[in-house]
Amino acid sequence: MSASLPSDSASLAQHLDDLVVANRVLAKYGVLDGFGHVSIRHPERPGHFLLARSLAPELVTAADIMEFDEDSNAVGGDARTPYLERFIHGEIYRARPDVNAVVHSHSPSVIPFAGSSVRLRPIYHMAGFLSGGAPVFDIRCCFGATDLLVRCREHGEALAKTLGAQNVALMRGHGFVAVGSDVRIAVYRAMYTETNASLQQKAITLGGEVTYLSEEEAAKADDTMAGVMFRPWELWKKKAMED
Ligand code: MN
Repeated sequence: MSASLPSDSASLAQHLDDLVVANRVLAKYGVLDGFGHVSIRHPERPGHFLLARSLAPELVTAADIMEFDEDSNAVGGDARTPYLERFIHGEIYRARPDVNAVVHSHSPSVIPFAGSSVRLRPIYHMAGFLSGGAPVFDIRCCFGATDLLVRCREHGEALAKTLGAQNVALMRGHGFVAVGSDVRIAVYRAMYTETNASLQQKAITLGGEVTYLSEEEAAKADDTMAGVMFRPWELWKKKAMED
């Protein structure tokens, strides 16, 4: 564990454990692969956040977690290599006090919607959190031709602005972000963003008229899911951690 993280805090240890589980679960189910990452807001220093060093999520352990400050700089003289795109996390935490966890993924079913005029919309009750359609961040509109990566605070700030008050934002030519007030909620939303995208594409491919959840239905479904959202966590954790 990094020297900057006190080891005598049960609460912090539990948060670190959950963050490791989040990495493993998202890798196990293909929402993250060798790339992508998940972070949590620091439970004791809310301006800071916790994110693994540059490492494939499936390999992350508590010892790999680094602490970053408001500007996404590593604290405590931690010289390990951080993820290039840590600014995604830092700028969303700055813009969204209600957000305590952020997932950034390139999962394959979501990419077509990030590069199409077809909006990602809730096709079933598990994805009511997509109500209103996930906004799409196009880095080109603000920064010209880039390698699509969120490389600096300005890129992250523009992404956070596109996310606004939503739960998910797509990133054209790149991937998406999903956020939540709890890491288990952010993981749930990332998992079902991928599944909803896959199902929505299948529905479109059928060729008929597609009926999505109305905003009222999505809101009601999301309220219901909030009551049972933690149910799959222990299952996902068991399956991911036994590998
Ligand atoms: Mn990325």
